[in-house]
Amino acid sequence: MAKEYDVIIVGGGIIGSALLYTISTYTDVKSVLLLEKYKDVALLNSNSASNSQTLHWGDVETNYSIEKARDTKEASERVLKFTSKLPKSERDLDIQACQKMVLGVGDFEVGRVESIFTDKFRELFPGAKKIGKDELERIEPNVMKGRDPKEKVQAILSDAGYMVNFNALAHSLVKRAAENKDVKIDVMFNSNVTKIVERESDNSVFVNGDEYKARFVDVAAGTYSLFFAREMGYASNLSALEVGGNFYWSPKVLNGKVYRVQIGGIPFAAVHGDPDITNPNITRFGPTVSMAMRLERYNPGTRMAFMKTIEFDSATLASFKKIFLGDSDVRRILKNNLVYMMPVVGKEQFLKNEVQSIVPSLKGSELHFAKGVGGIRPQVVDEKKMSLVLGESKIPGRHNLIFNVTPSPGATSCLSIALEDAIKVAKLLDVEFKKDKYEKELGPIRSK
Ligand SMILES: Cc1cc2nc3c(=O)[nH]c(=O)nc-3n(C[C@H](O)[C@H](O)[C@H](O)COP(=O)(O)OP(=O)(O)OC[C@H]3O[C@@H](n4cnc5c(N)ncnc54)[C@H](O)[C@@H]3O)c2cc1C
Repeated sequence: MAKEYDVIIVGGGIIGSALLYTISTYTDVKSVLLLEKYKDVALLNSNSASNSQTLHWGDVETNYSIEKARDTKEASERVLKFTSKLPKSERDLDIQACQKMVLGVGDFEVGRVESIFTDKFRELFPGAKKIGKDELERIEPNVMKGRDPKEKVQAILSDAGYMVNFNALAHSLVKRAAENKDVKIDVMFNSNVTKIVERESDNSVFVNGDEYKARFVDVAAGTYSLFFAREMGYASNLSALEVGGNFYWSPKVLNGKVYRVQIGGIPFAAVHGDPDITNPNITRFGPTVSMAMRLERYNPGTRMAFMKTIEFDSATLASFKKIFLGDSDVRRILKNNLVYMMPVVGKEQFLKNEVQSIVPSLKGSELHFAKGVGGIRPQVVDEKKMSLVLGESKIPGRHNLIFNVTPSPGATSCLSIALEDAIKVAKLLDVEFKKDKYEKELGPIRSK
């Protein structure tokens, strides 16, 4: 006999954990099951070693539109509100305030910094301020040490810098979900979902031949979400570039996060230097950009599944050609990153082009490749529009089913992504969504 639930969540990364918390705390559903293939939550891309640990705020992401910046800030504020309720010892594991800035070096980048610092930007981020060489020298001395005095430099200093251990945050979300005693919450680890069957009245999810039924299924399986969607006949116009990212580390040379300027239209951040929430003695530099050609960074057995998320045909080829060859910025980023993957020369070039733009005096002997670190961003390509989809994607099923695909800043957006789905779940299952409680605890809900 199949076990029955109101909602089943497939995948226990930061998104699945936020869904479990939001649905069980702010809707009247009676039972939720979270199925995770590994032995604990958030061991893949939401693990602290896999990503840059940034709570994106929208103020140093020079590639964001003002609308994207507003949504990102709102998503971050929800995370801040959630973590502010935690006991201090738990909160400190999840999130810590840190200095954060975006640094423009040279005429072009300084021009870009100037151009985003508009009235609208200042209205959205009243605490952000432009700083020049003198203040940089004071607050982030290694950014100026050894720099050519003639080089133009300008930064935007944020008043909202935070580093997050999204793995620890996922644990907090699951723990708080379980405090809802009027909801039956089951979390099953080592439970690899092999099949999802959609029906008008309910859906079935299979794990090792066992069947679990639910009135609503939310697929939050990271790089696997598009895989499931395509297996079930959805999203034939979408494919995913599984974008891997490597990191390097050095002894601690920065006081906070220093982002480089990114070009608008590029979906991910340029290389940055960051503190590590799990190790106060190092600075991390990265991520680089590589094509992972698999769904799990350190699991080559996931290549076949990757091929299914691409299903290479003439439309895919035409899209990739347009994206990779049609834009000079994408071409430049790819060319640089191909070099960064080469032995010896790769590290030298990464140091020269990226790291020394941030910390000019850092030597090669101080920079080390971070082995086994860095995850995958499932960057969605719309083959009809022949373009990259910027940010997260939601693929709706026909009946009570959603697939969440979550490249950066997916982890930051966890509670906003979960909010949208929780409202939908409540509507489709005809149960109450506790709007007043939500707004009191996690901030206003804007109608978009
Ligand atoms: C290099 C890099 C830097 C990044 N930096 C940032 C950053 O600074 N800030 C930020 O906000 N975001 C960042 N991101 C993005 C962020 O890491 C992701 O958006 C986020 O972790 C995605 O969470 P998720 O829960 O969707 O996916 P995941 O963390 O991948 O979780 C998916 C879960 O589903 C499980 N699963 C998969 N298939 C199955 C199955 N068949 N059955 C059961 N379970 C299954 C997996 O085991 C996994 O636990 C970065 C990403 C990368 C790669």
